[in-house]
Amino acid sequence: MVENIVRLSIAAGIFAVMVTWEAFSPRRSQQINRKRRWPVNLGLAFSNMVVMRFTIGSLAFLSAEWAAEKGYGLLNLGALPNVMTMIATLLILDFAIYCQHIVMHKWPLMWRLHKVHHADLEFDATTAVRFHPLEIVLSMIYKVICIVIIGANPMAVIAFEIILNGAATFNHSNVNIPQKIDRMLRWIMVTPDMHRIHHSAEPIETDSNYGFSLSWWDRLCGTYIAEPKQPQTTLTIGLNAFRKQEDVGFVQCLLIPFKINANRSVR
Ligand SMILES: [Zn+2]
Repeated sequence: MVENIVRLSIAAGIFAVMVTWEAFSPRRSQQINRKRRWPVNLGLAFSNMVVMRFTIGSLAFLSAEWAAEKGYGLLNLGALPNVMTMIATLLILDFAIYCQHIVMHKWPLMWRLHKVHHADLEFDATTAVRFHPLEIVLSMIYKVICIVIIGANPMAVIAFEIILNGAATFNHSNVNIPQKIDRMLRWIMVTPDMHRIHHSAEPIETDSNYGFSLSWWDRLCGTYIAEPKQPQTTLTIGLNAFRKQEDVGFVQCLLIPFKINANRSVR
């Protein structure tokens, strides 16, 4: 589908820009060689692409088109102007993803899956695509349910996916942004310094800053932390339960959710 090619091309372009930026102006010096981490993160990303390609990868847009055709969903009830349904779709879906992220942390069964993302021992643009395939499939099912309930605008759904992907690549990247600019950006969007706190090994910080695109939901819902306890440049990244790279390799990551003690208490 053309939509998929456009989406993937933009995602690859943003990824290339952020990786280049990281190389020229990094925020932190990384202790673990990229050669050890990147195959894991990119391997998971590739697996997810394959899984989605053969399962429900295009379902977000298709379900929005289906709901529009049938007149299902809140935004399809009245004859609202296109621009309004687009803005509403973008805002509601962004808030829905924020809520989903909280559930991934608070529901022990979901945390089993989401901890794969948090077990990365460094934080850079490749962390943004490091997810267990089951989390990606469940996320798509949740997104489709939200899309049908709200009667999302189909074009806005494509825009949302592009924005979410771009925002995640940006806010996971190890780039140095002057503090003044970071503070200004943070009034609207999630910056790398803000999201890095979410990847801190300190549990209170892991359970904060859940937003991906807009920073408003964390501020409004009281889950915002402006600064970590440790300085950003020496902040311990990852989970206390996984401190060795050998424990978070590709195969281990696929198996982490199925370990007997893979519940929330083992952090
Ligand atoms: Zn998280």
